[in-house]
Amino acid sequence: MSKVLIVGAGGVGGVVAHKCAQVPEVFSEILLASRTVARCEAIRDAVRERTGREIGVAGLDADQVDQTVALIRKFQPELVINVALPYQDLAIMDACLETGVAYLDTANYEPPDTPRFEYKWQWAYQERFKTAGLMALLGSGFDPGVTNVFCAYAARKYFDEIHYIDILDCNAGDHGHPFATNFNPEINIREITQPGRYWEDGEWKEIPAMSESMMWDYPEIGPRNSFLLYHEELESLVKNIHGLRRIRFFMTFGEQYLTHLRVLQNVGMTSIEPVMYEGHEVVPLKFLKQLLPDPGSLGENYKGKTNIGCVVSGIHNGSPRKIYIYNVCDHEETYREVGAQAVSYTTGVPAMIGAKMMLEGKWSGAGVFNMEELDPEPFMEDLNRYGLPWKILELEV
Ligand code: NDP
Repeated sequence: MSKVLIVGAGGVGGVVAHKCAQVPEVFSEILLASRTVARCEAIRDAVRERTGREIGVAGLDADQVDQTVALIRKFQPELVINVALPYQDLAIMDACLETGVAYLDTANYEPPDTPRFEYKWQWAYQERFKTAGLMALLGSGFDPGVTNVFCAYAARKYFDEIHYIDILDCNAGDHGHPFATNFNPEINIREITQPGRYWEDGEWKEIPAMSESMMWDYPEIGPRNSFLLYHEELESLVKNIHGLRRIRFFMTFGEQYLTHLRVLQNVGMTSIEPVMYEGHEVVPLKFLKQLLPDPGSLGENYKGKTNIGCVVSGIHNGSPRKIYIYNVCDHEETYREVGAQAVSYTTGVPAMIGAKMMLEGKWSGAGVFNMEELDPEPFMEDLNRYGLPWKILELEV
């Protein structure tokens, strides 16, 4: 029985609040805090209606460490689940250290003025969390998150040596808008407009953004063109899965999405460099975010499925082996369950499960951890139990 503080009342925060509320035997008290308190209240009302549980709400600017420290001291949670934006990661980690509380997030820290996805800022907290005897769990969403656990599970159960990993992320859903992003538009567009990067033969290789793609036949969806991107879990998996020769990440995009993105890039709307407009400084990408649909609002008319998984190949008992380990999630089903589309759902459920692992003591330790460093088995069991069942296909080598 534990108290948790959830920070961030967006699409993902709504799912985390619902899923924690569904497991009262672990999450005995829940406080949802975010910058705009009205969004917390809307989630609180939805949680009450669906689960009958009452959760607390609070206004919080998590960029201000002293505000988070004060809220933690007042509520006294055992764990802070950070599902605000990556910009808040370090400030919330600082507040956790100051108050002696464990920490979890779903996305690595990014400096607001440079779109760089690197663990170096958060890994630098290793000694401080160790010395404080506290656990910080990084990247407990789907990718990163479940994909890291899939790799750890494959390493433990299916392979003696893993040589190649391709992480594949397909959203074959249709939300009915000409252009919208499935999670925070600013974070999403920063991610996909960066150069692609993958790791091969001991070094990082860089390619122009969206310049390489392949077709993959996604179970329950069909063939989809999938583009090579850099994604943050590659960095920790390269460090923690030994014997790797290559690891890449692919994501599907439809033609319509790519055309819109190209136009927006060409006219400068995806830039994070401020411009002066009528005496005001405006960051084009932040302005674009204001115009695009709120990802949390996409659920209602979303149809179709996501399929996210890992193609892993290597050696088992002296023979080559290749598997695909994946989850399929249906936008309409997640909307019925928690009022959210599948991209928020596939992020929020693993955040709840990661928190549950920590609070039940199944995952423990002092320091900063990536998901693949912990025992994958109880987490894999809970994925099946709490809405993200997975399958494994043996593929031809
Ligand atoms: P949203 O933009 O929908 O929600 C973010 C929420 O954080 C908003 O409620 C926002 O408040 C709040 N927030 C922003 N700044 C602050 C602040 N300074 N203090 C307190 N609250 C703040 O994003 P999503 O829910 O779609 O995404 C949440 C997180 O999940 C992101 O970090 C994203 O990168 C991550 N993610 C991870 C994935 C994975 O698989 N690992 C996949 C998808 C997302 P306000 O309403 O006032 O703006």
